[in-house]
Amino acid sequence: MPCQSNDELQLIVDEARTCTKHGRVADYIPALGEAKQDDLSIAVHYPDGTCYSAGDIEKKFTLQSISKVISLAFVLMERGKEYVFNRVGMEPTGDPFNSIAKLETMAPAKPLNPMINAGALVVTHMIKGGNVEERFSSLLAFIRELAGDPNVNYSQEVADSEFQTAHLNRALCYFLKQHNIVEENVEELMELYTKQCAIEMNCLDLARIGVVFAMDGVDPISEKQIIPKDIARICKTFMVTCGMYNASGEFAIKIGIPAKSGVSGGIMGAVPGKFGIGIFGPALDEKGNSIAGIKLLELLSKNYSLSMF
Ligand code: GLU
Repeated sequence: MPCQSNDELQLIVDEARTCTKHGRVADYIPALGEAKQDDLSIAVHYPDGTCYSAGDIEKKFTLQSISKVISLAFVLMERGKEYVFNRVGMEPTGDPFNSIAKLETMAPAKPLNPMINAGALVVTHMIKGGNVEERFSSLLAFIRELAGDPNVNYSQEVADSEFQTAHLNRALCYFLKQHNIVEENVEELMELYTKQCAIEMNCLDLARIGVVFAMDGVDPISEKQIIPKDIARICKTFMVTCGMYNASGEFAIKIGIPAKSGVSGGIMGAVPGKFGIGIFGPALDEKGNSIAGIKLLELLSKNYSLSMF
């Protein structure tokens, strides 16, 4: 069923778009700096396959940190909860996503949660397979299944751009390696992680993934349980407590939707039992969230009483 453009959504997008001038496109990964400041699009995907959209929904963007919630689901399925949570914690940090500060104060040096970079690197490290190529292919196949789109792929340009400049992430990996939380070669882990972050799609695909989380791991189109229910629940809980960086508390209060954002300006939302949301708006606020994307979700949540609290 094609996604229908929707006038009500368009009005909300137009209102939210006025915020983009107060944000900034991320450029610490040089290739992300090419995005257009005032882009804003949204798709809302219902379990019955109905889809509504507004903005340039064909535009592709890389998942960046949104991939962290998907790799977590994947690794929990491959390794089980005990193995995963022995190596990464469950608590929000209140620190920026790439902070190294808390690692030094923890004993053992286990990252506080899988949504910050340190925790996500440990999660990616746990993806099974004989080499980077095999491990990346298995994660990509999982993401293609979630999106119901066999053409989802990654941007070599963005992956290379991050790989060449990921000094802080390398520092996190070496710290974790020193403390035996990461065991593999750091360059290999960086290759896998930067490819994972560079997986790209449009907001239709992202809304389709969101609806699988919203429906407790069941793809409502194929009716297949892609993610076990308890793992989908864990992922949604992390989305609420840590999904919007160190703005997650305010986001939960004002919007109340499990969501995960990335520095590319993407946001995936999963309104429990109702629908999935995919947003792309590359102008970011100072915490790293899409500034207009948050405004858009705030308007949506208020207009349609979407808060789960
Ligand atoms: N690849 C990015 C990084 O590790 C992801 C950050 C994000 O989207 O928060 O810096």
